[in-house]
Amino acid sequence: MREDLVVTDLRAWLPRSVDAIGEWQNEFGAFDIHPSLRVSDEVLAVAFDRLTERLRENYPFGHPRYVGQMLKPPHPVATLGYVTAMLINPNNHALDGGPATAQMEKEVVDRLSTMFGFADHLGHLTSSGTTANLEALWVARELHPHKAIAYSADAHYTHSRMCEVIGVEGIAVSTDACGQIDLVELEHLLDTGRIGTVVATLGTTGLGALDPLHDIVTLAKSYGVRVHVDSAYGGFFTLIADDSVDGVASAPYAAIAHADSVVVDPHKHGLQPYGCGAVLFADPSVGRFYVHDSPYTYFSSDELHLGEISLECSRAGAAAAALWLTLEVIPLSDAGLGQVLRANRRAALHWEELLNDSKEFAAYQRPEIDIVTYLPQRGSLSEIDRVSAAVFVNAAGGDPREQIHLATYNVKGADLVRRGHDVHVDRDAGRILRSVVMKPESSEVIDDIHARLSSIVRSL
Ligand SMILES: *Cc1c(COP(=O)(O)O)cnc(C)c1O
Repeated sequence: MREDLVVTDLRAWLPRSVDAIGEWQNEFGAFDIHPSLRVSDEVLAVAFDRLTERLRENYPFGHPRYVGQMLKPPHPVATLGYVTAMLINPNNHALDGGPATAQMEKEVVDRLSTMFGFADHLGHLTSSGTTANLEALWVARELHPHKAIAYSADAHYTHSRMCEVIGVEGIAVSTDACGQIDLVELEHLLDTGRIGTVVATLGTTGLGALDPLHDIVTLAKSYGVRVHVDSAYGGFFTLIADDSVDGVASAPYAAIAHADSVVVDPHKHGLQPYGCGAVLFADPSVGRFYVHDSPYTYFSSDELHLGEISLECSRAGAAAAALWLTLEVIPLSDAGLGQVLRANRRAALHWEELLNDSKEFAAYQRPEIDIVTYLPQRGSLSEIDRVSAAVFVNAAGGDPREQIHLATYNVKGADLVRRGHDVHVDRDAGRILRSVVMKPESSEVIDDIHARLSSIVRSL
């Protein structure tokens, strides 16, 4: 039913995009499309049918029973905003390329900055969280040119890759039994004087763990070290960081306001289509590192062009329009986007309760946001690996109306043992199961999912 509604909404609204943009365009006078660009409806129909047929080769990312990776379609409002602006195709690199959407970008970045409690900021949208983190690490290198960058072993894999790209040593610090950065090891590392910047992750990609940013900020400041927060996945949870039953821990999130830079991905929990990350710096003077001289770009205005403060050149103005329109109707507040996140959080916590009462499964660790990790109750790591892999495959098969889509996650035997799982470690590492519960509708189907996965485990 709900999916019908979504489709119906866009059926009604997308023609309004075409009309509104067409009307504006016509003010400049009609012109004929060049023959080289004309495509007949018959030819297009054949190709379009092939496209939609090929797109069936996908997983149902928008369905509540897709609880696998960090994937879901954008909110229809975001799609509407994106498509409408895309009909003009502004480029947010320069005000010459997209004055309206560049202004929208500045407004949404202001809202993100307010959400994080930054007093002042310099920031912009990016194509991805990876690019956003790259910028933060690059600025970190400019400020501490000969020092290393530390992050936890569970930090996103692109941090070590981007350290290679910018020619800086990256050091992975061990995690503790909750998947958080080990503060004792971090302090030893800071003692050596080698570190210029610490990356704290709020919401690790694998486990959704929250590094204790409040402690990290205090520690790092005492060593004169920068702190960058990678909250590409978990950043929006700051809207519900109130320690309540369906909220998340307040202390790490409150500390973002005291960090030097932060990254968040609106294309993960901000209801946006891909192509929308964001980076914010607390000190606007870091803009000096971006200064470049381009003889062909900035002419229309003396105001700030976003390309003057970003590594990337061309960027979709449509991404800013999509986020702007979304935040007009689902604002960055507890009552707005927060309600989506609370539903996810309740679903994750309910699932954890079911796992804790289960004979077939055990929770790998407590979910700190909305990522649940769990394992079949088997005596050895090789059995856990075998059964997890089989559950992953079996659950996703058969009747589409019953399929459950999960993800797997690789753990070391030692990681299981230090989380209190009584397991015979007969191999180094193995797969367990992982579910990102990022669709609020999933909260309605967690009981069914758990019951079906349990019966699959019993049959294996
Ligand atoms: C997803 C993610 C990234 C990478 O972001 P992309 O938008 O996929 O490039 C970085 N860090 C964390 C913690 C993430 O979850």
